[in-house]
Amino acid sequence: MSIRPVLLWPDARLATRCRTVGPGDDAAGLADDLLETMYHAAGRGLAAPQVGAMLALFVMDSGWKQGAPCPMVFINPAILSASESQSTSSEGCLSIPGISADVTRPAEIKLRWLGLDGAPDDREFTGFEATCIQHEMDHLEGIVTLDRVGPEARARLRRDYAA
Ligand code: ZN
Repeated sequence: MSIRPVLLWPDARLATRCRTVGPGDDAAGLADDLLETMYHAAGRGLAAPQVGAMLALFVMDSGWKQGAPCPMVFINPAILSASESQSTSSEGCLSIPGISADVTRPAEIKLRWLGLDGAPDDREFTGFEATCIQHEMDHLEGIVTLDRVGPEARARLRRDYAA
């Protein structure tokens, strides 16, 4: 395991769509590095492209700051369904340090993914986990929080980020 440097926006790789993880990819090694990097940076989610690995994989541990670590690894994730009800959260991003953007997303999602054992899994997520997963899924598509806000908020956040 090793801590990798986290790419900072506007690195072009953060605007690039990731490819599907295949059998020849070292998903386990990448997941280990992502988790170690995420804990080191005091984050609760981290996507592979944030360390320059352009693969559809992200990690999350929503509760480690309050209790025991519970690392989760999501390979080739897909959102199967999303609720009509929405929620707005102030989202930070390790790739855009110091900036929080109010992003509105579906409040509940159903996700399917592959685990490290290669087996498919699916589950519904709500609350912070639903928000975090959608944020990390965006990274896999080359989308960041600044792409999810209106033009005025985007301009203000970009000014704050540059300052
Ligand atoms: Zn992020």
